[in-house]
Amino acid sequence: MTTAIAKDHPLPAQYAAELLIVRSGDGVRLTDAAGKRYLDFAGGIAVNALGYGREDLARAAYEQMLRLPHISNVFANEPALELARRLRSTGNWAAVFFGNSGTEANEAALKYARLYALRTKGADHHRILCFSGAFHGRTMGALSCTPSAKYQDPFQPLVPGVVVAPYNDDAALERTLDPGFAAVIVEVVQGEGGLACMSPAFATALNRLCRKHDVLLIADEVQTGLCRTGDLFASRGVGLEPDLITLAKPLAGGLPLSAVLIPDKVNRLIHFGEHGTTFGGGPVTTAVALKVWDIISQPSFAAEVMAKGAYLWELLEAARARHKDIGEVRGRGLLRGFTYKGDVADLVARLQEKGLLVLRSGADAVRIAPPLVITKKDLAEGVSIIEEVLQ
Ligand code: PLP
Repeated sequence: MTTAIAKDHPLPAQYAAELLIVRSGDGVRLTDAAGKRYLDFAGGIAVNALGYGREDLARAAYEQMLRLPHISNVFANEPALELARRLRSTGNWAAVFFGNSGTEANEAALKYARLYALRTKGADHHRILCFSGAFHGRTMGALSCTPSAKYQDPFQPLVPGVVVAPYNDDAALERTLDPGFAAVIVEVVQGEGGLACMSPAFATALNRLCRKHDVLLIADEVQTGLCRTGDLFASRGVGLEPDLITLAKPLAGGLPLSAVLIPDKVNRLIHFGEHGTTFGGGPVTTAVALKVWDIISQPSFAAEVMAKGAYLWELLEAARARHKDIGEVRGRGLLRGFTYKGDVADLVARLQEKGLLVLRSGADAVRIAPPLVITKKDLAEGVSIIEEVLQ
């Protein structure tokens, strides 16, 4: 069957020269512009948690577009207030900032941390600690905390004051952290960084040392948050106790919306007008997010993701036993994958040819991040396509 590929396209050269043109979706299946069907193990990079063809989400967006599409943060809107109340009630949070992307949420969290440090410890307590393998976004602050030469080098100089420590290394953390830091920013699973998972011991060390030095601990849950790993927040699953959590990808069912969960000790130090955004927390994205929240906040939803994630792990481990090119199986919940000893880009292309969409992670890993509503049968079908291609 022919495949719909965009060549000589008008999108910038940072994107692939040839792109698959996806036209529509239903459930966990996608159809390209030539009518070819795919099983979706990519989820729009872990965004499309509830799958495709959702009338409930589409109706919420349509009705809100008619009622009020935008109003700005000079005024409030009801869906944003309600969503903020619900997110706030998930823990000891005082307020929720809404942005439009993961990187914008991280920028806001880093700025809040610097405000907090300035106003509680004084000037010169502005440093930020991030970790090897991290990915926090492409804007200058988040990029400065994304220690990858490919992403950073063309854009030097970056934001000063960022220090990089090895991930999952308690001793290095102990040596590095001091009260001169404003924040530590960390992922529980490094979604773009080869699917490395935070060890519970590292989580405990982060909790203890951030508390000791009064450094704000930011959990970047842009990719892991909202049930992706089988917990509402991945930090909970490993015992990490963040001061701030950033969320984005699945929050609004495919529409651009991000959030920062803010504790009282920070919120009470922020002055009027010190941060803002025009589009963030608009009525349409938050109205859709309320519908998403109704579903994913049910404890049974996370439990099902956990069970399906365990099943996917078993399938991948069984495949690893049969195929020597599969290295290590990694990840949590339905953010899984494996290291591949061959050419990952070639494997991803061959899987696409066979009707399975997957993602890359880091230099050598294949990442699987399907819609969270996927069934065990679909997971088994996808892994069998992987095994067929590896044959
Ligand atoms: N943080 C993490 C952990 C991510 O995985 C990503 C994107 O993949 C980002 C931040 C940046 O999000 P966005 O691309 O929406 O700016």
